[in-house]
Amino acid sequence: MTHTANPAIGAGDIEIRIPLKEILPWIVFVGLLALIVLYFVSSEQGATSVFSGSYIHEFLHDGRHLLAFPCH
Ligand SMILES: [Zn+2]
Repeated sequence: MTHTANPAIGAGDIEIRIPLKEILPWIVFVGLLALIVLYFVSSEQGATSVFSGSYIHEFLHDGRHLLAFPCH
């Protein structure tokens, strides 16, 4: 039996720590992706539409209703 600082961690267990410096770019990246997806689900229609036509809007239409965005 070896002594460790944390009694919950026994011998042979590996404590994994990810430094904030390494994980921060991924948080920003995933956050940006989430915002882009949110834009396409919520606002890609009518006056705020980037792409012409309603193909993208129709493609995401069920998700729109599932997330209770106002639609029609
Ligand atoms: Zn709708």
